[in-house]
Amino acid sequence: MLQLITILNRCHRFPRFVYQQARFSSDHKSIEIDVRPRKGSKAICSRCHQAAPGYDQLPERRFEFIPFWGFLVFLLYSMRRVDCRRCQAVVVEEVPWADGKRTLTKAYMLFLAGWARRLSWKETAEAFRTSWDKVFDAVEHVVTWGLEHRVLGQIDAIGVDEIQYAKGHKYLTLVYQIDLDVTRLLWVGKERTIESFQGFFTVIGEEIASKIVFVCSDMWEPYLKVIREKCSEALHILDRFHIVAKMNKALDEVRAGEARRMAHEGLAPVLKKSRWLLLKREENLKTDQRFRLRDLLRYNLKTVRAYLLKEAFQQLWDYDSPTWAAKFLDEWCRHVMRSRIEPMKKIARSLRQHRELILNYFRAQKLLSSGVVEGLNNKAKVTMRKSYGFRTFRALELALYHSLGKLPEPESTHEFF
Ligand SMILES: [Zn+2]
Repeated sequence: MLQLITILNRCHRFPRFVYQQARFSSDHKSIEIDVRPRKGSKAICSRCHQAAPGYDQLPERRFEFIPFWGFLVFLLYSMRRVDCRRCQAVVVEEVPWADGKRTLTKAYMLFLAGWARRLSWKETAEAFRTSWDKVFDAVEHVVTWGLEHRVLGQIDAIGVDEIQYAKGHKYLTLVYQIDLDVTRLLWVGKERTIESFQGFFTVIGEEIASKIVFVCSDMWEPYLKVIREKCSEALHILDRFHIVAKMNKALDEVRAGEARRMAHEGLAPVLKKSRWLLLKREENLKTDQRFRLRDLLRYNLKTVRAYLLKEAFQQLWDYDSPTWAAKFLDEWCRHVMRSRIEPMKKIARSLRQHRELILNYFRAQKLLSSGVVEGLNNKAKVTMRKSYGFRTFRALELALYHSLGKLPEPESTHEFF
């Protein structure tokens, strides 16, 4: 134990404090370390961060430190209060290992937050014999610090995305930076309304917003409106990934409707288990699936016609010239409007309505790959899935910033691992 104190005083030292004694707690489940002010060091006012004359001392507090050798470790310290003339108040002193509100030390919060990025929060709490709420506190501390200290710099391209986070149409708005050299989550907003998306522009300020060159989004009208307003100079691109997703949704609607009708009319269930055959790209199917798809395509079904329309649409992305892409798009839409397949016609109408924004994808010379937004969207979904036990918007918001924000982290006094 004596050696532990020597190690701590050498490696994890604070200029104004000293680790004095370490012992096992009476139940032998944890190690307690006494901390004392160094001789002659003055207490610092936690409000103005200046040295101030002492006033009194509070009862001893326990601060949770990083566990050693399977034991919980606590720092024990009696906080001093100062009579600060500058603040004209009696204020509790500032200590370097904790932020005053929480009982977790900063080093331990950094440690827990690091693990909470790899494991779920629940697993992290279990692994280190602490509570979910303390893991929450740790992540909140690290993310808050990171948001305060991150440098936004110049942002060339952003992608805005919506994501469903709970049953009953609860959505989040996520804004990513999708520059060629930096991709990160910039902002999380509750809901997917005009007001919530405007919140992003309030955070980054007009100066940065005015220099954004590309904006990628889906066809969600509130987003389109805010982008027209706030990034009027930027090239607004409807994202390929979102269009493909919409198209798949329409096809699925056709398939489900037709399968129901066929079952009702007592026809052979040829559409059974066809969902993934139709939604996956053909090149991603296994050989036997490919045969089943070929088989299915021989039937004269609405689903089959919708599938062929969807597949034909993929050719759009191969064009380099906006002019030829436009010709193809118009021709495809004309064709679909004659198809009498309502969900597909709805897509065609929507594509016609947003024609210019789609063609911007080609005007931007495909500089922004849809893969970026899609990849970030998938990561966000994984974070949410790992988060079972995220009970609130706040917890989810923190988890998303923590795993996708590429935020700077407070420096630990000492690297433990
Ligand atoms: Zn003060």
